[in-house]
Amino acid sequence: MKKDYYELLGVAKGAPADEIKKAYRKLAVKYHPDKNPGDKASEEKFKEVSEAYEVLSDDKKRQMYDQFGHSAGAGQAGGGPGGFGGFGGGGFEGGASMNDIFGDIFGDLFGAGGARGGGARGRRRGGVAGADIKTQVDITFEEAAKGVEKVITIPKSVSCNTCTGSGAKPGTQAETCKTCHGRGEVQFQQGFFAISRPCSDCQGTGQRIANPCEDCRGSGKIRKRSQIAVKIPAGIDTGQRLKLSNEGEAGERGGLPGDLYVVINVLEHDFFTREEADVLCDVPITFVQAALGAEIEVPTLDGKVKVKIPEGTQSHKTLRLKSKGMPYIGSPSRGDQLVRVIVETPSKLSREQRELLKKFDESSSIDHTHPLHKNFFDRVRNMFG
Ligand SMILES: [Zn+2]
Ligand SMILES: [Zn+2]
Repeated sequence: MKKDYYELLGVAKGAPADEIKKAYRKLAVKYHPDKNPGDKASEEKFKEVSEAYEVLSDDKKRQMYDQFGHSAGAGQAGGGPGGFGGFGGGGFEGGASMNDIFGDIFGDLFGAGGARGGGARGRRRGGVAGADIKTQVDITFEEAAKGVEKVITIPKSVSCNTCTGSGAKPGTQAETCKTCHGRGEVQFQQGFFAISRPCSDCQGTGQRIANPCEDCRGSGKIRKRSQIAVKIPAGIDTGQRLKLSNEGEAGERGGLPGDLYVVINVLEHDFFTREEADVLCDVPITFVQAALGAEIEVPTLDGKVKVKIPEGTQSHKTLRLKSKGMPYIGSPSRGDQLVRVIVETPSKLSREQRELLKKFDESSSIDHTHPLHKNFFDRVRNMFG
């Protein structure tokens, strides 16, 4: 009996799409084979949640599933006897790395990567696909919070415009290599063995160019510093990467270009740090503010916000500002900001201030004003007598 897809993802039946996505992302990261090498149970779970997501993330499939349950997929194109099982086939099996999951989710959301999964990329017969490029982009903490479009410059090979990538001078054509008959390799017999090697007359391309294009010297590609606009979604964190399909090195002889992977590096902020979607910030307050209570101004991603410090606040107490943290990628909801107040002990006191503090000390019964202090030293006394 197949498990219910909603149960698998731990969401309610009417859950909105972003909640399903969030639930899936969490589970996918948890059970990803990269994280649980050799763990069959995790692998199984990973497949199950991926399949559930595959269906529930697609409006049409979800509607069918809601109406007919697991039997809905049977008889559908791609469904097959396993019902919806067929939909899972192209998913994350095989070499998909943790970041590809994010890449794919980004792709869905932002249209950055149309092609799913490297293997599914249609390569024209005979062509050689271009290599992938990986590059790093630095962004500020604020840019990570708001999302940003960056134009990056990448030296890469692109298809030559003059000859539209054929390598032949405009008006002429490449001819099929007569030595290898276009196969790109030649076979010869050595004893019992048929051995093949790349054709040296055409450098394995299967074609010969009698009149090479002058701009690319017959290679069909030119190196160029290309400018590419990269849409970086709000909420992104260091180490996550975006996939831009077909923005890698040019392919050869009709092959598709490779992909461009942009790895994000979020620069350190003066006073914000981050834990998942929560933003952390330490704010020093005076001991008078801590004792008497105060209203202070705290920096947030949305500007300054007034925060009430209650009377008698201890140092390192954390106050939570709801929904002032980082956005969850592709979702309108945000994490919180955690303000940790640090009580600053006064230093460089004037003579008058010293006198006032001494007076304060004399006037206060420490048992009453400093219960933590009293409690601790009471226990020390009990221990050592
Ligand atoms: Zn040849
Ligand atoms: Zn050319």
